[in-house]
Amino acid sequence: MIVRNSFGKMPDGSEVEAITLENALGNQVVILTLGATIQQWNLATDSVDLVLGFDSVEDYLTDAHYIGRTVGRYANRIAAGKFAIDGDGHQVSVNQKGNSLHGGESGFHNRLWEIAAIDDSETPSVTVTLTSPDGDQGFPGTLVTQVTFTLDNHDCLTIHYTAECDKDTVFNPTQHTYFNLRGHNSGKVFDQQVRLIASQYTPADDRGIPTGEVKTTRGTPFDLSELQPFGQLIKHQHPEIVAANGLDHNWCIDGFDPTQIEERLAAVTVDPASGRKMLTRTSMPGLQVYTANFLGAANAKQGSKYAPFDGFCLESQFYPNSPNEPAFPSPVLRKGQKFQSTTSYQIVTD
Ligand code: BGC
Repeated sequence: MIVRNSFGKMPDGSEVEAITLENALGNQVVILTLGATIQQWNLATDSVDLVLGFDSVEDYLTDAHYIGRTVGRYANRIAAGKFAIDGDGHQVSVNQKGNSLHGGESGFHNRLWEIAAIDDSETPSVTVTLTSPDGDQGFPGTLVTQVTFTLDNHDCLTIHYTAECDKDTVFNPTQHTYFNLRGHNSGKVFDQQVRLIASQYTPADDRGIPTGEVKTTRGTPFDLSELQPFGQLIKHQHPEIVAANGLDHNWCIDGFDPTQIEERLAAVTVDPASGRKMLTRTSMPGLQVYTANFLGAANAKQGSKYAPFDGFCLESQFYPNSPNEPAFPSPVLRKGQKFQSTTSYQIVTD
């Protein structure tokens, strides 16, 4: 079932819509046209909302943490906002410590997306679209992106991205939801656990720019082949974890093949207290695990407040700074070529 409601207005008076996808179990995901945002994920039987968010357009527009948003054109960092495609140099908007983060000063997360399609069937879905003009934040080409959110009857939310550009460009979309498997307003995720299907990661400097190495996780705290509590990882004294104030690192999900568009299992996260589990699958090469190290919001949903470590993000992506690292999987999207990727989050309750 699908329900469409008004969520308020943008500063220019245009309407923001909230689209509720409800599956046969009565569980619901709410998507906003502002930022192609996941605003709620309600489990009916447990009366719990698993994602952090806000109740108003104003609160989203002042949020600096990308809560729930679709991020683009380039999720994560591009060093100094510079890269070249076939020797053609580009300078994109720089907005964090001299680097470009999450698409630059005015990325996709605060744009008003249009509804392109609604499928009110057994597995309800909504497709939203955004046209980013040539030169937007410095990125080349007019880029048309579509994102489809589908909720099935196994509580799997699948996010499918497609895009096409009229010039050679780079493209790396992600979803920046902060999950808390105990409920969006239930505090720190220290005793929730994570396992990653990733035997390598990309070490980075203290500004989050990869050194260029792809390193084995074996023998390091980045080996998450067994479930481990976030709290234990966050307080680890490894210099890269200390520098990031917690987890904020890119793992190379095993089995990436650029010719395949199938998803692979990337992460299992667990809340032992509620018995709730989430399976994250993606067709993308990398996954940024971010433990909300700098989160803060005084005006969140239903009068709640958020503080650091009150959620975790599992952001599928090309590795950070890939446009400048020829050995990493390439984020170049050629003129006229169709970009496709899929990432899904599935809730399983024991
Ligand atoms: C980044 C963090 C950043 C955060 C912003 C994450 O994806 O990796 O470094 O602070 O987004 O909310």
